Amino acid sequence: MSQKLQAVHASIQAAAAAVSRQPDSVALLAVSKTFGADMVLEAIAAGQRAFGENYLQEAIAKIAAVDLALQAGDGAAVARSLLEWHFIGPIQSNKTRPIAENFAWVHTVEREKIAQRLSEQRPPQLPPLNICLQVNISGEASKSGMAPAEVLEAARAIIGLPRLVLRGLMAIPEPTEDLEKQHAAFRQTRELLQQLQAGLPAHAAQLDTLSMGMSADMAAAIEEGATIVRVGSAIFGQRKRTIQS
Ligand SMILES: *Cc1c(COP(=O)(O)O)cnc(C)c1O
Repeated sequence: MSQKLQAVHASIQAAAAAVSRQPDSVALLAVSKTFGADMVLEAIAAGQRAFGENYLQEAIAKIAAVDLALQAGDGAAVARSLLEWHFIGPIQSNKTRPIAENFAWVHTVEREKIAQRLSEQRPPQLPPLNICLQVNISGEASKSGMAPAEVLEAARAIIGLPRLVLRGLMAIPEPTEDLEKQHAAFRQTRELLQQLQAGLPAHAAQLDTLSMGMSADMAAAIEEGATIVRVGSAIFGQRKRTIQS
């Protein structure tokens, strides 16, 4: 695990260096879906702090198990408050409350209604929830996310919500091994963020985030400006089972 994490950090550094970006301008989100709390604790011991989860029930149980282990002093001596959990899965509107209560970030907001509920349900003692709008950048009929043309209007509505901070955009482009195509999709996502930055009042949003790039395409994503890469299998290995929320 520690070696795999180091290899991923080396890939991030190489991709950042290729376009003269600072390596610390790219955050690594370790996608731990389908892997147990033991694997998360191992990654924590190796220095990882931010984890992404797709399936709500699995995530809530895992967050609790990791909390308990850290409190009991198992594994790394890391304060719970240093960990950052990100929700990156599809959101059903009747399941927003546990998301608002248990996560620091949500990458997969694709409707204004979901954003409203997350804002209403964010507990007052927690800092505002960081959110990204998911955009269907390749226009795939089967894929989640807003159409690019809908993003500005949705963002205008969402920046007024009191318990959220709109941080930027998230995209999962159509998988392809064609580097040109990878670059094109990520470039379009970056240009869309630039349109948002130009089209929204500067004080109203902290639009600094492009959540894009996974194990297979993170180099292209970083070269096009990704600020968070979401990496699962390159850290934890191949996923053997799939869990539904
Ligand atoms: C599973 C998943 C990832 C990680 O994918 P890998 O190919 O294992 O790196 C990233 N983002 C989302 C939204 C995912 O569901």
